[in-house]
Order: sequence, then C-alpha cells, then structure tokens
Amino acid sequence: MFRKWLKLADRCAVCDLDYCFAAPDDGPAFFSLCIVAFPLTFVAVWLQAAFEPPFWVHLVTSLPLLVLGCIFPLQPIKGWLVASQYVNKAQEAGTEKLWAKLHADARKTSLGDRDG
Ligand SMILES: [Zn+2]
Repeated sequence: MFRKWLKLADRCAVCDLDYCFAAPDDGPAFFSLCIVAFPLTFVAVWLQAAFEPPFWVHLVTSLPLLVLGCIFPLQPIKGWLVASQYVNKAQEAGTEKLWAKLHADARKTSLGDRDG
C-alpha cells in the first residue's frame, strides 16, 4: 500500500482500491509518540535517577532508542490507521458533501491528466 516509506500508493496493488479516502494526517506520529516516546522517556529518567550515569550514556542509549523507536513504527501505524479509516468509513462529521466534491474534482483532474 506504500509507494515510498510513508507515501501511500494511489491504488491498492492487489484489489485496486482507491486510497483517496486515506487521510491519517499526523495520527502515526501521535501514536508513535504515545506508544514509544513517553514510556522510553520514563525509562531514560529512571536510568538517570537510579544510576546517575554520565551524560554520554544517554547519547548512546536513550537518544538512539527514542529516535529509532519513534521512526520505525510510523509505517505500520499509518497502515493500521488507513485500514481503520476504510473499515470504519471514517470522515469528519458534516463533510460528506465536501468529500464527494473533492473526490469528483480529483477524478476529473486525473482523467484530464490521462487525456492530455
Ligand atoms: Zn487491496
């Protein structure tokens, strides 16, 4: 479902589902922070309080763990959010007409691209 690391493909390669409904926005970053960054921050604080290590210990343990731990879950979380949007037919309340108009415009534009 991904064309690049976090870039969604236009359509599913297996079932040709149009991913135009997918708008997880900053959801993956939010869940990545909640699931990984906050607990790891507490671990880093505990490490500091319990052992009082020199500062460089955090540079080689806490910092890389935080960065990698926040970046690697982004793709699976984004896939999960897009799947949830599809399964739950999620969209902002009251924007059904706007979505229909936007998608109609997008289809017109993509059809125009194919012609021209
Ligand atoms: Zn599919």
